[in-house]
Amino acid sequence: MRIAAGLIFAGAVSLLGSSAAWTQTPPAKGAAAAAAPAPAAAPQAAPAPAPKVAAPARPPCNNPNALGVGRTVEIDTTGGPGFGFEHFKDLDFLRDKEVVLTFDDGPWPVNTPSVLKTLAEECTTGIFFPIGKHATYYPEILKQVYAAGHAIGSHTWSHAALVNKKLSEDQRKEEIEKGFSAVKWALGGTPPAPFFRFPALQHPPEIVTYLGTRNIAIFSCDLDSFDFKANKPEKIIETVMRKVDKLGKGIILMHDFQKHTAEALPELLKKLKAGGYKVVAMRAKAPVQTLPQFDESLLKEAKLPTVSSRPVSSVVQTISE
Ligand SMILES: [Zn+2]
Repeated sequence: MRIAAGLIFAGAVSLLGSSAAWTQTPPAKGAAAAAAPAPAAAPQAAPAPAPKVAAPARPPCNNPNALGVGRTVEIDTTGGPGFGFEHFKDLDFLRDKEVVLTFDDGPWPVNTPSVLKTLAEECTTGIFFPIGKHATYYPEILKQVYAAGHAIGSHTWSHAALVNKKLSEDQRKEEIEKGFSAVKWALGGTPPAPFFRFPALQHPPEIVTYLGTRNIAIFSCDLDSFDFKANKPEKIIETVMRKVDKLGKGIILMHDFQKHTAEALPELLKKLKAGGYKVVAMRAKAPVQTLPQFDESLLKEAKLPTVSSRPVSSVVQTISE
């Protein structure tokens, strides 16, 4: 994969120096520079520790014909930038023939692992926006998404429409916060990226503002695959290719929750490659800061394990077979 040094924007989007995410990000240059002229009297104080986020690198690629990853960008989510021209037109960071693959509503048995398999075969990557409840149903599947080196954000706790006027302000905020806390729980305590997608792409302005105060980036899309409406995989491929050829680039909205999407993905990725498209990986500069009260309420309400965090292999061992 090719990486150029330098910045695209001074603000929200910058290039990463490696294919990996947070762990391989070089120490913040700004912080180091600021620390340099510190008073000489004090012994050199250790810089503030970077957030502990172990984001695995994507595995090496053994497929010479793979779609691959064209470049990786790092997102500074301070102030809650919005992406996707269907709703947010400030940050036009994709170059011609660049796409971002995004997958909503998982994790889900069969379909999410199938999507992961296809992405691995094509040595490429995407952003996953899981539903909090689904993450608590299938944490092991979400851990697979994470282990494969993909970016993970959140898509609310229960997929409630946040424009629903019957929901109070607190209930809407809870949908967001509990969603992130659920993903963090499913990942064994590792906070995901501060990347959020509204259910049905419905954006109540006050919640958009709230996300800004929480430094959580908002992801709309440039083109919607409408895969949840498609009655066969071919329809999804046709819709995406027609729209991306028209726009020339874009953030593509799909659902790893959907069977037809999983079935369409191998052919769709081949068509993107044949069309000269390159996938851009989006990584967050720092993980989301979940709110402790929601981490705790999630554990209580869902009656999830609060004591043992041992891996399965330490609890269950096959002693005969
Ligand atoms: Zn959704």
